[in-house]
Amino acid sequence: MPDSTPRAPVLQMPQVVVDMKLPQIRELATQLRFAPEEGRIWMDERRMVLVHSDTFADLREELLASLGYEMTRGLLTRIYFAAGQRDAASVLKRLGPGASLKEVLNTGGRMHALQGYLLPEHVGRGLAAGDLRSDDYYGEALWKDSLEDEAHVARHGVGQHAVCWNAVGYCSGYLSYCAQRTIVVREVECRASGGNHCKIVAQPAAQWDNVEEDLRFLLPQPVGRRARIVAPVADGGPTTALAQSAVTDSRDDDRAAPRSLAETAFVGASTAFSVLRHKIDRVAPTQATVLLLGESGVGKSLIARQVHRRSQRAQAQLIEVNCAAIPEALVESELFGVERGAFSGASQARAGRFEAAHGGTLFLDEVATLSPTTQGKLLRVLQSGALERLGSNQTRVTDVRVIAATNEDLKQAVRQGRFREDLYFRLNVFPVVVPPLRERRDDIPLLVQALLQRFAPLHGRGHVGITSRALQALIHHDWPGNIRELENVIERAVIMLHEGEMLDLQHLSYADDTLSTPSYFGLDDTGQLMINTDYDFGASQSPASTSAASPAALDMNRLADDLLRQGPGQLAAMERALVRSAVRQAGGNITRAAALLGLSRAQTEYRYRKQQSAPG
Ligand SMILES: [Zn+2]
Repeated sequence: MPDSTPRAPVLQMPQVVVDMKLPQIRELATQLRFAPEEGRIWMDERRMVLVHSDTFADLREELLASLGYEMTRGLLTRIYFAAGQRDAASVLKRLGPGASLKEVLNTGGRMHALQGYLLPEHVGRGLAAGDLRSDDYYGEALWKDSLEDEAHVARHGVGQHAVCWNAVGYCSGYLSYCAQRTIVVREVECRASGGNHCKIVAQPAAQWDNVEEDLRFLLPQPVGRRARIVAPVADGGPTTALAQSAVTDSRDDDRAAPRSLAETAFVGASTAFSVLRHKIDRVAPTQATVLLLGESGVGKSLIARQVHRRSQRAQAQLIEVNCAAIPEALVESELFGVERGAFSGASQARAGRFEAAHGGTLFLDEVATLSPTTQGKLLRVLQSGALERLGSNQTRVTDVRVIAATNEDLKQAVRQGRFREDLYFRLNVFPVVVPPLRERRDDIPLLVQALLQRFAPLHGRGHVGITSRALQALIHHDWPGNIRELENVIERAVIMLHEGEMLDLQHLSYADDTLSTPSYFGLDDTGQLMINTDYDFGASQSPASTSAASPAALDMNRLADDLLRQGPGQLAAMERALVRSAVRQAGGNITRAAALLGLSRAQTEYRYRKQQSAPG
């Protein structure tokens, strides 16, 4: 029979639940954000969806009706096993290597509760008492108010079996990821089989009797599946959804082959990026001319390098020419070479970039800026491979693949007579539109990670982490300067960091010097949706006040909120702490401490002496 006692909602009255107290839930709740203007919900760095529990129940019924019990149970268990692994990966990443097992497992339980599947409770030894990596690990927990048994009982009534398949999968996946081996969770009691709640026991696979029964649903291919999520990322990037989520895990990154500079920024998980990579994979091995289109800063030269690297010409040279950077008078000699004495500056014969790229690839950036004469010569090389150096009649034949790029609308340039139509058609064999960064926001966490790994060692910093709110600010910025702007922002931030400091809001400065104030919603302490929660947590409901505040002021607000939660009398305590810190920073020199505090020497000394004489 279903439990009929009223249950307290998780977020409103968390004090009734073991290990679900406010500060922890609050930290986790800030990871959940609603961005209705983007049609998105974020949890950590990943996109989420709100699904009706009825939809979950409908899906489950459809699966049962069309696939039967065995396959449905296996499917739900395995899908949520993967979900548990993904959540474990992001929790481990967020908490850092120093986190205790207890902290990691409790956070997992809270993630599960926050996502609305059930409410885990401590029972017996709990899940975190033993050593998850030892062979005799034994953990137990209660699950209250499970979504799945509620759905099952509503349609099938109470029966013989435990039915919380998704939660068993999730919990097994989470624990297995943390243990780096298979931990089997078994539901030994379930509301759907007449219990008041569900009870689970977790043990390493070898500890269970009849474990084949569990593994049948959990891991049809235990080796292959686990290998996929923990395997190092192969060169060329991950191809499966599971591997893509693994790429965000620093432990996997460490084992990945070191990336070249060009590879660093060629990462992504967004649909736009997948489309782009698919196109590049198709065209790279061919001899086709490629035309890269897109705003400036989107990384067109990066794409050109990817095309070259994946082509049959990879062993030969890739020559890059920015047509706009060469004075117009010199473009022709630069591209096609020059004979001695061809013009007054040509004291010796010199091969052009086309000849230099023979057998390889030539990347012509900002191709729309070429003069009409140069356009004509370029067309001829593209058609026949033939060219003459400036001041020479000798025809040379080159074998060069051309990749051209522009941020201009070439069709319009043709209409305006600035660009030859025949050249346009010649270049436009395989156009690739490189999307602006604001259209691939899902890639920003991966890009930031890659850039931090590039810039931290470059500027003598150790491992650099980033706070969740700084990452959110980066995700929601509009990036008019695209990846180039992101690179600059991250590099500047890395330079600003002190050793051991996390990259935070105050380190971010954008080209237009404004901190973007995205409008999205998150959860506050009571589980209510509030605008821009992380920026001004619980202090103000007005978005205007957050946009006016500086990052330092926002930190101050957070600090004040934290202090007030600790009880009354914090004002005096704060003053004492400020005076103490100032005196300590000034090395005991009261005059300098006074300067730090913005007080007179007498005022400072009075406060300091008062503290010294105060009891305690
Ligand atoms: Zn159950």
